[in-house]
Amino acid sequence: MKTYTCGCGNTLFFENSYCVQCQRPVGWCPGCDRVTALLDLGNNNYQCAHSDCQTRLTKCHNYQVHQVCNRCIRSTEINSSQALCDYCQYTEIIPDLSVPGNRQRWYELEVAKQRLLYTLEALQLPFGTATAGFDPPLSFDFKGDIILKDALWRTLGKGQRVFTGHADGKITINICEADDEVREQLRVDFNEAQRTLVGHFHHEIGHYYWQLLVTEDWLDQFKHVFGNHENPPYGDTLDHYYESGPPENWQQYYVSPYATMHPWEDFAETFATYLDMASVLHTAAHHQGSKGTLYLQTTPFDDMIAAYRQLGILLNELNRTLGLIDFIPEIFTPAVIKKLRFIHDLVRSAQKTVIRNFSDCWSTA
Ligand SMILES: [Zn+2]
Ligand SMILES: [Zn+2]
Ligand SMILES: [Zn+2]
Ligand SMILES: [Zn+2]
Repeated sequence: MKTYTCGCGNTLFFENSYCVQCQRPVGWCPGCDRVTALLDLGNNNYQCAHSDCQTRLTKCHNYQVHQVCNRCIRSTEINSSQALCDYCQYTEIIPDLSVPGNRQRWYELEVAKQRLLYTLEALQLPFGTATAGFDPPLSFDFKGDIILKDALWRTLGKGQRVFTGHADGKITINICEADDEVREQLRVDFNEAQRTLVGHFHHEIGHYYWQLLVTEDWLDQFKHVFGNHENPPYGDTLDHYYESGPPENWQQYYVSPYATMHPWEDFAETFATYLDMASVLHTAAHHQGSKGTLYLQTTPFDDMIAAYRQLGILLNELNRTLGLIDFIPEIFTPAVIKKLRFIHDLVRSAQKTVIRNFSDCWSTA
């Protein structure tokens, strides 16, 4: 992820909606693909403050009304008073905002989702909405368990509990994952090295890309690297995993214990690790003065792994210095590298043919 610069000279970050130094509103400008200060023209009309852009903008409805987004739309493209930005269009179900705390949970989820979509764009991976005719369309539901007010004592029945997962392009996240104490408890219960909202999105989108990209041409190679996804069936492996746990030597072959459950989960966990690596290297490249997006699109796999390993030693040691959990918990054994290389080849072959270099068009401070 890049950082951006306000007209006043202050550094702006991807999630910012105002500048703490000059107090101006701030938002994502689709005219120059930057987070920028917004010149207020009144009545939800703004102008990108960069003199080389000056695009007329309107805040996304979710920015203007709910403050869960910081993106703008070109004023010429506004067709309704409730127009949503390019990223908010992907969210189909939002949390019940009459429940206290749900607006904040929704905000946390949107921030993580926006980081995901940014990374997918940087990697030039294809995705699209149903409206745009994309098949399978990508969409998100952010829902909470339904607890009936007069029946709190009841165990939640089927249909009331929301399971985080992916089905046919739809990524559902249980909004309780936005609560730090719930997520941390689940991390400990499931013996996970890390559990974050960004991590959930990186995993679930892996299932989406399995469906979208692992076509006939790739299936034999997929089975060779990850195993046969048809035998034993998914349901059997799920039961077995929760009864017996991962095999003892799982770190030799897998990025996480959960990846041992089934080839589909192995693929999603490895895909998530690849997105972790891509987004970290993109950020590092930017802060070291090079173009992160170009780096992701052109750097050979072996060089990416070497850079990530080197960075990982520093980042893990920095975290340990402060007593934090490891920044990069995965161990890159030959078997894990083989799986990551498969993902890398798949991603590179899927890259959109039109090179947009969306975030490298402009210099940054
Ligand atoms: Zn400023
Ligand atoms: Zn602009
Ligand atoms: Zn939006
Ligand atoms: Zn999964």
